[in-house]
Amino acid sequence: MWSAAGETRVPVLSGRSFRVDSPPENALVTQRLHNELHKVLERFATEAGFDEQNKVGIVFRPGIFGHHKVGRAADIYDVGGVQLDIWKRRWDRARECAASGNSGALDRERRRNLGWRLYKALQNYGRWSQPYGYPIQLFGPWTRSEGPWRFISDFLLRAHRDHIHVAK
Ligand SMILES: [Zn+2]
Repeated sequence: MWSAAGETRVPVLSGRSFRVDSPPENALVTQRLHNELHKVLERFATEAGFDEQNKVGIVFRPGIFGHHKVGRAADIYDVGGVQLDIWKRRWDRARECAASGNSGALDRERRRNLGWRLYKALQNYGRWSQPYGYPIQLFGPWTRSEGPWRFISDFLLRAHRDHIHVAK
């Protein structure tokens, strides 16, 4: 634990059903963000079928800009041993299959795509900051198609093509 700008930061540690596979210093966050993330990650993991015996791995990497400077943001790059941009590619492929007539493709992908499931869990169960005049601070590869900010710019979408960013 260490502090900067007055507020103590804590690492996001493994939970009951999820395991943090990155070094603790990759996600040093405020207690508020820690609590919110822990709650949502646990629910995501449980709903996806993981438990104490079989935890799902999560990888954080440190960010530099904006909320990251004061520990109010975290970036997730990898879930279940697969990078977020690869989960997104699998998702897009399933969507193409569904569009060309394979009606079960998307349902199957909704069950097994941990990247998409993590994004939806963060969107549905988490309460993230929304600075005045700015969108809700949840960005990732699915932001344009799933929200919450469907009008995300090409620039910002590209910047989050390989990770999910949350801030509180
Ligand atoms: Zn970030």
